[in-house]
Amino acid sequence: MKKKDLVIIGGGPAGLTAGIYAARAALDAVLLERGVPGGRAVSTEFVENYPGFSEGVGGPELMSQMESQARRFGLEVDSANVEKLIPDEAGFLIGSDDGDIQARAVIIATGMQARALGVKGEAEFLGRGVSFCATCDGAFFRDKEVAVIGGGDAAVEEAMFLTRFASKVYLIHRRDELRATKVVQRRAFQNPKIEFIWNSTVAEIRGSTTIEAVVIEDVRNGETRLLPVGGVFMYIGNKPNSELVSGLVEVDEKGYIITDENMRTSRPGIYAAGDIRRKLLRQVVTAVADGAIAAMAAESYLTK
Ligand code: NAP
Repeated sequence: MKKKDLVIIGGGPAGLTAGIYAARAALDAVLLERGVPGGRAVSTEFVENYPGFSEGVGGPELMSQMESQARRFGLEVDSANVEKLIPDEAGFLIGSDDGDIQARAVIIATGMQARALGVKGEAEFLGRGVSFCATCDGAFFRDKEVAVIGGGDAAVEEAMFLTRFASKVYLIHRRDELRATKVVQRRAFQNPKIEFIWNSTVAEIRGSTTIEAVVIEDVRNGETRLLPVGGVFMYIGNKPNSELVSGLVEVDEKGYIITDENMRTSRPGIYAAGDIRRKLLRQVVTAVADGAIAAMAAESYLTK
């Protein structure tokens, strides 16, 4: 069995930054990522609020730079889907589809994933009009009318992105006020291709081979109406990918891992960094800071 000082699980901004710091500290570390390194930022077309890029930077470009930087310092990055994390006498056993690794410390940087609405038609039309990624699928909706569900930064930014292709974008939000950052809101309000549908949710998605319409429900009086659209993009928030540490470390009521300011979880040797943590602000800039701290805290733990 492979033996390592440190295993970093997850290759988004938090995991890659932990990797950069671990490699520079000469720890024998490996980063395991089940998909493409870069995390959710890879499917963000443009990151405008990461300091150091006065004109903004493409999400894929920023993440590819972070990965190259980690590899330049010698970090081992492996493709593996981690299925179990079990404490043992040497520290932890990390089991994945790529084999088992024994490690003395672990950094959990598994992030979060998009939540589904759970309405009729959503699962049925996934990939046939229902999407969770405008950057990936937006171009399929050229000259069509589409709906975006949600009122946070992701919903509003992706609605604006979709106006490049779609003839019209309906932004359906359950309240009469957006949650998104003010500067993002202002831009969206000025976009003539976006029509806001307030105080409403989608109760059903209908179609034949692809989507033809959504049933919209007014949350104030329960009235429903049919809105013809060719696509529906879901941006109603996220849930943490914390099943791996279920029962192992303390999490909050939503499943986010609770850490101290040094990214230590309730179990010695397990650290958490990035969106998976209970925290106020989930952004690339806070994820990279978490990653750096987690790696340094793990180094201190390993050298004691
Ligand atoms: P979010 O901020 O949690 O927003 C989720 C939105 O979905 C909210 O408007 C919420 O409505 C709505 N919603 C939740 N459940 C719903 C339901 N069952 N039916 C209908 N609507 C529902 O999620 P996010 O936009 O994905 O953002 C997550 C984090 O990433 C945030 O910290 C955000 O700032 C960050 N982010 C940042 C950027 C950026 O800065 N460039 C871009 C994307 C995301 P309510 O408002 O009524 O709760």
